[in-house]
Amino acid sequence: MTACQACRSDFSTTAIAAPKDFEYFVERAVPTEVRQCSTCGSLFQHPWPDKAEALAFYPADYQNYERPDVPLLSKLLSMAQRRAAQTFVRQVGQDARMLDFGCGDGSFLGYLAAEGMTDLVGYEPNLRETERETRPKVTRVGSLRELRDAGRTFDVIRMHHVIEHLTELDSTMQGLRHLLSPNGVILVQTPNVATATWRLFGQNWGPLHYPYHTVLFTPQGMEAGSQRWGLKIEATTNTPMPTGWAMSLENLIKRSLGSRRRGRLRVYGLLVAAALPMSYAEAAIRPSKAAVLDYTLSAG
Ligand SMILES: [Zn+2]
Repeated sequence: MTACQACRSDFSTTAIAAPKDFEYFVERAVPTEVRQCSTCGSLFQHPWPDKAEALAFYPADYQNYERPDVPLLSKLLSMAQRRAAQTFVRQVGQDARMLDFGCGDGSFLGYLAAEGMTDLVGYEPNLRETERETRPKVTRVGSLRELRDAGRTFDVIRMHHVIEHLTELDSTMQGLRHLLSPNGVILVQTPNVATATWRLFGQNWGPLHYPYHTVLFTPQGMEAGSQRWGLKIEATTNTPMPTGWAMSLENLIKRSLGSRRRGRLRVYGLLVAAALPMSYAEAAIRPSKAAVLDYTLSAG
């Protein structure tokens, strides 16, 4: 049985028969395809990896941009994060109790602390003991059970490019729903399959990000998933984001050159800059078809 991970429909077709990782060249031990749901259009890996397999996908240098060979990119990213943090605090307020689910190195929480937020928790799987206290004013945890046992609830749970990495999708989303305060929301930012660049780039589409991305949603797939998780979509907005275009172009370049360079090419910063007008146009012309969507989910 090959049920769609988004809407659970049993009808799907092969979208990509032999997906490739152009970033770190990780290969799954089992032959894998990316399937597209015939009902909701979402994409998902088949066979579906379990948690242990998926955690092992990530190499030590996975998307570590604090490197001297990509100075433009790390500078752009930190500027974008600071601006995003300022906007975020204006939206949710300084007093919001906040969980950043899938916080990575916790840098976004650090920017929120600098903007005056005080109740900040970050979750990251496989958190090393040494990483727990790297940012002042931020509590870091490695399991949701720690939060449940402490009776914690949150006004805002942020999932920034995280939901598409999950392997235990339903139990994670249902677990997060139980951590919401009465008026709390889960803010999910994730790539959108219902976008022109998926059809344009196909197997080179940057957001495929195989094998790290297990499931990629259409709005219809997110609607079906939310219902199953006991959540309601309160709003859908979009974020112009040039990285999907830039990663697609980078994949095309790497594929045509047969490049085995790990991570980003040196020209990636330039590709991002070149993609900026395209991503803004795409988001402005047909917002629901933007490459990246922001869903506000509540417990309804
Ligand atoms: Zn589906």
